[in-house]
Amino acid sequence: MVTPARRQYLDLKEQYPDAILFFQIGDFYETFDDDAKVVARDAEVHLTSKDFGRAGRVPLAGVPLRALDTYLRKLLAKGHRVAVCEQVSEAGHGLVERAITRIITPGTLIEPQLLRERENTYLAAVNIGRNEAALAYVDVSTGEFAVTPLRGPERDAALAAELGRLGPAEILTSRDAPALPNGRLGTVRDRAPFDGEDGAAALRAHFGVASLEGYGCQDLPLACGAAAAILDYLREYNPRLLDGLRGLATYHTDDFMTLDAQTRRNLELVRSGRGGPGGRGLLGVIDRSETAGGGRLLRRWLSQPLLDLAALGARHDAVAEFLAASALRAESRALLDRVGDLERLTGRAIAGTIGPRELHGLRATLAIVPELRDGLAPLVAPLTVTLRERLDPCAEAGELVVRAIAGANEGRRIRPGYDAELDGLIDGIREARTWIADLERRERERTRIKSLKVGYNKIFGYYLEITNPNLPLTPPEYIRKQTLTSCERYITPELKEFEARIADAEGQINSVEDAIYARVLGELAAQAPRLLGTAAALAQLDVLATFAEVAERQGYVRPHLDQGRGLHIVAGRHPTVEAAVERHTFIPNDIALDADEFDGDGAIMLLTGPNMAGKSTYLRQIALIVLLAQIGAFVPAQSARIGIADRIFTRVGAQDDLAAGQSTFMVEMLETAAILHHATARSLIILDEIGRGTGTLDGLAIARAVIEDIHDRLGARCLFATHYHELLALLDALPRLRACNVTVREDADGIVFLHRIAPGGAARSYGIHVARLAGLPRAVTERAALLLRDLEANAVPLRQLAEGASGYTVAAPTAAPPPMTPQAPEPEAIPPALAPAPASAPPAAPTLLPLPTAIRLSAIEDAILDEIAALDLVDTTPLEAINLLFGVQQRLRARHAAEAQVQNAAKGRPEAEASAR
Ligand code: ADP
Ligand code: MG
Repeated sequence: MVTPARRQYLDLKEQYPDAILFFQIGDFYETFDDDAKVVARDAEVHLTSKDFGRAGRVPLAGVPLRALDTYLRKLLAKGHRVAVCEQVSEAGHGLVERAITRIITPGTLIEPQLLRERENTYLAAVNIGRNEAALAYVDVSTGEFAVTPLRGPERDAALAAELGRLGPAEILTSRDAPALPNGRLGTVRDRAPFDGEDGAAALRAHFGVASLEGYGCQDLPLACGAAAAILDYLREYNPRLLDGLRGLATYHTDDFMTLDAQTRRNLELVRSGRGGPGGRGLLGVIDRSETAGGGRLLRRWLSQPLLDLAALGARHDAVAEFLAASALRAESRALLDRVGDLERLTGRAIAGTIGPRELHGLRATLAIVPELRDGLAPLVAPLTVTLRERLDPCAEAGELVVRAIAGANEGRRIRPGYDAELDGLIDGIREARTWIADLERRERERTRIKSLKVGYNKIFGYYLEITNPNLPLTPPEYIRKQTLTSCERYITPELKEFEARIADAEGQINSVEDAIYARVLGELAAQAPRLLGTAAALAQLDVLATFAEVAERQGYVRPHLDQGRGLHIVAGRHPTVEAAVERHTFIPNDIALDADEFDGDGAIMLLTGPNMAGKSTYLRQIALIVLLAQIGAFVPAQSARIGIADRIFTRVGAQDDLAAGQSTFMVEMLETAAILHHATARSLIILDEIGRGTGTLDGLAIARAVIEDIHDRLGARCLFATHYHELLALLDALPRLRACNVTVREDADGIVFLHRIAPGGAARSYGIHVARLAGLPRAVTERAALLLRDLEANAVPLRQLAEGASGYTVAAPTAAPPPMTPQAPEPEAIPPALAPAPASAPPAAPTLLPLPTAIRLSAIEDAILDEIAALDLVDTTPLEAINLLFGVQQRLRARHAAEAQVQNAAKGRPEAEASAR
């Protein structure tokens, strides 16, 4: 036996078993059973329990009605779906009627308070067939609906990259589908809607067309299935949203630059692990857009760089013109600043959830459009002209709102004069209203009770109130209804009759008004394509003007793009690091690579330099400049000539990859393998200290093999930062490999980072200097310096092994650091010994110097020296160094003690005496 309330709850819950049911009880939404536990955990609500009589106690977590959104946000962020069940009849006797009034899922939001203003929220569907796959996605708040086929060997990688780009809030998969990339969990749906044939039919029915040719997916059954799965899901959870899907764009991933999830993260495009402006990475630096739509578009552009020279040229032309026209730009941006979120307002008009105030916001936005158009008239860049022409002020829509929708203080939603029936109904009760409004005055005169009042409350409706001292004057026809301490409340039959007339009419007025309001929204929805066209043009103009604004404020220039495979940047800067350091303290650097030439600038740069010198910054800066150029933005440099890159890959060696934390060597290798599989001759590959995650020799060998493969087979442009100075020997073997190093200056106190890239390999790793900077005790670093000198003076086992293993020559390190000046690094910054050996010179045999005769090494010391030799000081933390020294000391002392013992034993002395000595 369960109580009726419990029965009602269970029945409703059964309708949407996959959603958390928020069950309205008075001023609270309550959740029960497992739902309550989830809500308590994921929305941080106190968990209690409720007694359902004989049904027993069940877990309960409740939230106040008014705080619903706060908790919804938390639950949606954790991927939950929520069904809101409200009381639909007045509380009275017996069980209150309840119904599920809305279902909220993370991927189907249109409520502005649940959405991020400058970010799209996507619902995606993945359809995986035998050899192919397809991905569809929609932002129901803006109507953006797109689908792409994913074919060939790149299929899985492309799917992972697209999911990484979109970051969907919800992903639909069919029951039989394989696991999603990156371990993401999908919302599992039946297979049927994913079916290609039926899917195509569903799409045709939705769009009311005979063929899908206009949408470009007529021959792509899996794509149709994916898109149809989205329609199917919306039909089940929120059919109103279907109206917002007015079109479907079929795109192909190879029309855009591919950026895998790893690269997006490494480059900190939209999110920065290390802060940056608002923790938004590159986006935080370049997003000076004025509108929400512009902000969203900028984010999309940033995650989907172009490959099409003409399209990029068009963007750059438009930006250049905006840059030159600074006064016009300022005026346009001031207008854009006043523009509302036309895209989402339209979406909500279509879904029928927009309020009168927002409709006036929409109207006000449209009113700005003509002024903006006029302002942009002098601009002649073809893209700007096209966009300007698409700025449709949608006059009919604006006028409709003005005519039909009441202003904020008019009490109603529909403006008087718009609809005769409604006006008639309102007029019809005007008499009754004035009668009641006048009642107080009339009755005061008639009864001579000056303090008589007419009031209203929800329970009794209208009443007449007489204070205790005046009770004797109460007219006989008054009927007593309620007694308070200081007064009595009455009604009269006449008052009740007028009241009933008003109440009846109000009900009718409200339903008529609802219908008119819905009709107005329907008329606006019919204008949606025009409204959305204007919204799209506004967003693009905003972004182009933003690029110009950023270029002016931050000193960016127009990049020159071509179809070649060159990469020539003069005085490039890292956009986010530059913004984070003090003004003008960022040191710009050049790069010159060219994969097209065999003997010119080279295609691969091997970058060496001590820790903290600026290697990673330089590598990322090159990638970010290329990326900015290919979204149509200007770039932080003095000049840039860039051959379009089809992909940018970045990999960061395991130990350098702070964000990932748990990265392992295996992951690093998997990722490196992926690059070698997916990169093409047009790609840009950034490898930052890969091979670190393993023992030195393995890492060195792998690093070398990777460089050789990129050099010989791929021919892609590549920057490779490494602490393996041994790799410099590759310069001999690989004609398109160039070496550069980040310079440091050595002075009395240690080293100064110059952050300047100079040709040639770094002379040494400066590990001890870095250790000194890190605060390792002077005695330790001095001792380490001594050890190092010894090691360098002697044959170093690591080098020996490296040479033995690889057969290439490593020049002996120089004792003195190369001369370096901060201003102009001299060419002789490359120590002669490190310069590539002349091709004719025979590989020099590794020199094994005789060990100084003074020290005859025992096996223990030999082992210790080997260990130190194999040690990568760049890679060693101060703590590890101390531990190591400690270990060395322990072993040496143990040996000395043993020696002493042996000697003592030989001399016949007791052991105790020896130690006392
Ligand atoms: P590495 O990868 O060689 O260890 P990073 O690239 O991480 O070095 O740079 C270390 C720090 O040096 C950065 O956090 C930044 O503050 C600073 N830095 C790097 N490059 C520059 C530069 N070109 N100008 C000014 N500061 C820089
Ligand atoms: Mg680094």
